Amino acid sequence: MRPETEFTPRDLFDRPLQDLRISVIDQCNLRCQYCMPEEHYTWLAKRDVLTLPEIARLVNIFMSLGVTKVRLTGGEPLIRPDLPQIVGELASRLGQGLNDLAMTTNGVLLARCAQELKSAGLQRVTVSLDTLRAERFSALSRRNRHAAVIEGIHAVPAAGFTGTKIDTVVMRGLNEDELADLIEFGRTVPAEVRFIEYMDVGGATGWSESKVVSRNEILASVAEHYGQVPRPLNEGGAAPADRYALPDGTVFGVISSTTQPFCRTCNRSRLTADGVLLTCLYALDGVNLRKPLREGASDAELRELVAGVWLTRSDRGAESRLAQRPRSTFVPLDSLQRDPHLEMHTRGG
Ligand code: SAM
Ligand code: SF4
Ligand code: SF4
Repeated sequence: MRPETEFTPRDLFDRPLQDLRISVIDQCNLRCQYCMPEEHYTWLAKRDVLTLPEIARLVNIFMSLGVTKVRLTGGEPLIRPDLPQIVGELASRLGQGLNDLAMTTNGVLLARCAQELKSAGLQRVTVSLDTLRAERFSALSRRNRHAAVIEGIHAVPAAGFTGTKIDTVVMRGLNEDELADLIEFGRTVPAEVRFIEYMDVGGATGWSESKVVSRNEILASVAEHYGQVPRPLNEGGAAPADRYALPDGTVFGVISSTTQPFCRTCNRSRLTADGVLLTCLYALDGVNLRKPLREGASDAELRELVAGVWLTRSDRGAESRLAQRPRSTFVPLDSLQRDPHLEMHTRGG
């Protein structure tokens, strides 16, 4: 049944609630250095992870408050066995208030399930890929799965998906010499490559400002290779990614979350795998929706709870972090920021 949009709450900076990222599982089959600690992590108990019907019900609540875009993420979404069923359930809302159903994945398991997800109704896929070099991949992700990821990326267009994206976190000393190679690889897939500035979400993964390669540096590196400064298509627009065209028309994006954050237009909400609503990637805390959901709250009560959170939202996490510069001297203020449960993999990126 179509979840009628009842009203669209606007937060304290007049930002509407439009986008929901659902972390369907906290676990992952990689251990990317910038995202999660290698060890000493206690996964959520299975009983605490939202079930398919619970996800479906919460999506209805969010849609009734204005959400039109849903992205499935993780952890690694493809290790959740019922992902095709989740996709199928949510896809039934497309054209009924939901306009966009996408997924972000590390691609390791994509080759075997891209076709099933396409058939289930998934619209778009973003695959994360930071390097084309297998040995670098292993060092960065602490797992030897590069070939599987490349195979997975090629399976995406083969399954009939269009609008595919490749997301690359650019880190100094790690992969900043591969930007043109990645653009060329994206061209062959085909997929639009987006370079993401390294963010210091969490605090357990050793972020340092010196490892951040800024948008300006990314553009300079691309220009050096192609002999021409890329042409901006929507620079300064509302979308997180600024898009640029190369002389031959190839388009790539830059997401400058660290040096030029886009908090002023941020319309994103996030649901963790155990049902905590976060209103910012940098949030130290959120509102537990699973508890009232399981205690029998009505749709109206859940809607009121979510609307109330959004109406009082004043997050501008990345902008606040930027204001704390110089960051080279920034040390986590308290032990909370070293808590692995605050890392990127709990909140979907
Ligand atoms: N496992 C899936 C994947 O890797 O695509 C989905 C979850 S992952 C947390 C989502 C995105 O967050 C990935 O593209 C990843 O590169 C990005 N990410 C993780 N840590 C990051 C960081 N410190 N800075 C910028 N992006 C980060
Ligand atoms: Fe896993 Fe994605 Fe985080 Fe890498 S970025 S550890 S693949 S959740
Ligand atoms: Fe939105 Fe927070 Fe990211 Fe800013 S830092 S864009 S408020 S999620």
